[in-house]
Amino acid sequence: MSDHSFEDAIVRRIRAMEARVAGVRQADMYFYNRAVTELRGGARVLVDGREMGMYASYSYLGLLGHPRIQAAAQAAVEQYGTGTHGVRTLAGSLKLHEELEETIAAFKGAEAAVTYSSGYVTNLTAISTLCGRGDYVISDKLNHASIVDGCLMSCAKFLRFEHNDMNSLEACLKEAQAGTARLVVADAVFSMDGDVINLPAVVELCRRYHAWLMIDEAHSVGVLGKTGRGIEEHFGMPGVVDVKMGTLSKTIPSVGGYVAGSKPLIDLLRHASRAYLFSAALPPAQAGAAKAAFEVILDEPWRIEKLNVNAQQFIRGLQQRGFETLQTETAIVPVICGSDESAYTMTRFAQRRDVFVLPVVSPAVAPGLARLRATVTAAHEAPEIEQAMDVILEARLERDRVMPGG
Ligand SMILES: *Cc1c(COP(=O)(O)O)cnc(C)c1O
Repeated sequence: MSDHSFEDAIVRRIRAMEARVAGVRQADMYFYNRAVTELRGGARVLVDGREMGMYASYSYLGLLGHPRIQAAAQAAVEQYGTGTHGVRTLAGSLKLHEELEETIAAFKGAEAAVTYSSGYVTNLTAISTLCGRGDYVISDKLNHASIVDGCLMSCAKFLRFEHNDMNSLEACLKEAQAGTARLVVADAVFSMDGDVINLPAVVELCRRYHAWLMIDEAHSVGVLGKTGRGIEEHFGMPGVVDVKMGTLSKTIPSVGGYVAGSKPLIDLLRHASRAYLFSAALPPAQAGAAKAAFEVILDEPWRIEKLNVNAQQFIRGLQQRGFETLQTETAIVPVICGSDESAYTMTRFAQRRDVFVLPVVSPAVAPGLARLRATVTAAHEAPEIEQAMDVILEARLERDRVMPGG
């Protein structure tokens, strides 16, 4: 750290983080930022020279490394190079961006779509473009950090309802009747718990209280619905979500984010959202890969079926081994450990046996609900999932030995 003659709050923050990270490293409990050196099919990876089963990936359909998607990325580089000429509004727009946005709109059953350079930025810019002072944004308590940040950035009045609790949502909507507009925002699949938003009830409330509905489909595209189109398909309710947000960096093995919706809504975002106006366009390789990935999802529906079979095996298998997995219905399976230390200890034991899982601790989740946030994908095979669950069970038994009382 640079030498300061003064000690202010910034210096104290830097020192506090230094001390915390050093302590965790000393205890051999630091699992973050580890570099994968080789992708071995996606369900397996090489880390520090060791092959590990990957149970922390967001590549739900196993599309990372898919030959057709790789080829599309390479073709885009050949045609357009590695970058863009700047922001979309000025010189940065490519025919490929238009094709990608048309592909997304068709996939989501929407009139139009707009893309941004990350999902995080998409939430920030979309929410803060749609809402401002005098409005209300109403957010599920377990929504992703990018939604929270977008709500705060909008300067609208920010209300939070209890997780997936419709009475609590209705109370917020009543309070928000005073506002000039109301936007309700929720994850489709909650990123830490793997459960699904009660869309029919949310839609009914939004209609009754004249609120807009925005759903973040980061973990539901390619996961929910028979053809992987997400939350509306899952509930058989086409067109009920006004602002259909998603990322291009999870199931879609690229990077970026999008909003799909009505043409006038997308036109507004294209002309008023600051991340579109002031941040560079998606690079060609990423746009090409994303476009091909949506096509592959539709052409290879077996992946969605296999993901669901694998997720059911994983959820049931962990429950049979005595683990608490909350309300998950998807490939995101919270394996509740209790204290942060307990989650760290179980992670260490699992990783020593070459099962790559990661701990999620407070403040990302409530204290006492620290967990392994484990995921399976369509790239996993039944026997390896079984074996990974046995390792997770052994990790718990070892934790019980070193931390009696957990
Ligand atoms: C990952 C995630 C994002 C951010 O997407 P990126 O493309 O990684 O920036 C937004 N919302 C949810 C729910 C997420 O899980």
